Amino acid sequence: MKEIVIIGAGYGGLRTVELLSGNKSFDITLIDKNPYHYMQTEAYGYIAGRFDMSDIAIDLQGLIHGLGPNVTFIRDEAVQIDETAKVIILKEQRLSFDIAVIAVGAKTNFFSFIEGAREHTNGVKNMQRVFEFRQAFEHRLYAKLQNSQNSLNRAGDLHIAIAGAGLSGVEIAAEMAFTLQRYHKIHSEKSQRLEFSLIDAADTILPGMDPYIIKKTEERLHELGIKIYTKAFIEKIQERSITFKDGTILPFDFIIYTAGVKGADLIHTLDTPKNRQDQIIPDETLRLQGSKDIFCIGDCTEIKDAKKVLLPPTAQVAEKSAAYVARSITRLSEEKSLEPFHANVDGVFVALGGKYALGILFKKIRVKGYFAYLLKKLISRSYRFGLEIKVNAGYKKRHVGSHDTLCR
Ligand SMILES: Cc1cc2nc3c(=O)[nH]c(=O)nc-3n(C[C@H](O)[C@H](O)[C@H](O)COP(=O)(O)OP(=O)(O)OC[C@H]3O[C@@H](n4cnc5c(N)ncnc54)[C@H](O)[C@@H]3O)c2cc1C
Repeated sequence: MKEIVIIGAGYGGLRTVELLSGNKSFDITLIDKNPYHYMQTEAYGYIAGRFDMSDIAIDLQGLIHGLGPNVTFIRDEAVQIDETAKVIILKEQRLSFDIAVIAVGAKTNFFSFIEGAREHTNGVKNMQRVFEFRQAFEHRLYAKLQNSQNSLNRAGDLHIAIAGAGLSGVEIAAEMAFTLQRYHKIHSEKSQRLEFSLIDAADTILPGMDPYIIKKTEERLHELGIKIYTKAFIEKIQERSITFKDGTILPFDFIIYTAGVKGADLIHTLDTPKNRQDQIIPDETLRLQGSKDIFCIGDCTEIKDAKKVLLPPTAQVAEKSAAYVARSITRLSEEKSLEPFHANVDGVFVALGGKYALGILFKKIRVKGYFAYLLKKLISRSYRFGLEIKVNAGYKKRHVGSHDTLCR
């Protein structure tokens, strides 16, 4: 039996496991440092208080039970890979492999040239940080509500800054503005004024995206009362203020940092070519250069389209690279040669608060408003539904005791 080890249970890692689990000649081990699959694409709704925790997290043990007896889950952190010995060194144990897939994703890049970014902001790549942010934010809203009932005077404005106007920053800004405007109308119009600032150093929001999406997104953000600052270079972030390079100071009550990502810590330890974002530069078959049996997928990998343009890290690209690698592993087991990987993006959707979204499908078809929202919802619901079916199957298996020792 071939030992396949997949490091990281995000969009890419999970997809690989799902696709390989049907092949009983593979003994598959999935490793993640967390016991849950964090659905980052839904984080905007959780931060804004519209979704709850079950909308963004899925229990990995339950899920793996639902996949079959040839799949095992280990909750541990991979700290090194010994390519020659074909061993993955985890914090608690060592694991040998025939084929390994690195799917560890990315982490927030608190650029060292922005003084105070790490200390004073919240990233969204880590579920614990997102959870803590939401709690702190709700406490603050409650305190404001209390104040508004005790006094006729304005209890203080609430200013939320979002540093980084890529897909995640835009979605979070729009959802928070939409949700808080509603809250503001119902609870505390007298008590505060809401202000949102979306800041990016690039020339536009959503850098690199289709001009139609950029223009329509700007219009929607303006409607939601969000102030957009582009070509705005942040020099310093303090507890309650941002200082820009030109000396302007912007005060805030809460800040979310979505200004950049880089490859997860494990990537840093690998002796393989990497780009400036600490992403692995793989060969054309998504293997580490010079390696026959270590693949890499998703956000931790530099993936380019047919025109050699770097693709932004998305769940869609992570899943496509996973599907390719799962096929390649099957081909290797059949002693067939590998085709090169060709990345293509089917479409992009941007959630813009409430039941409003924008999208482009196959680079041509433009959708907006409620219809785009429904399409985006359909994609996320079907993803989630697929996982839930497996979790339920796993739950049933565990409770009839058919196999109870899958998780080491
Ligand atoms: C707010 C927000 C909104 C987004 N919206 C969209 C969207 O609308 N559409 C879209 O396509 N994409 C979207 N994205 C991007 C998308 O979430 C990522 O591209 C996607 O998660 C990448 O998948 P991945 O499998 O490469 O990595 P991840 O999903 O990040 O998974 C990596 C996994 O590896 C684990 N791990 C890391 N290091 C180790 C280690 N050393 N040992 C063991 N385990 C480890 C982590 O715990 C994690 O579970 C959004 C992202 C954010 C933050």
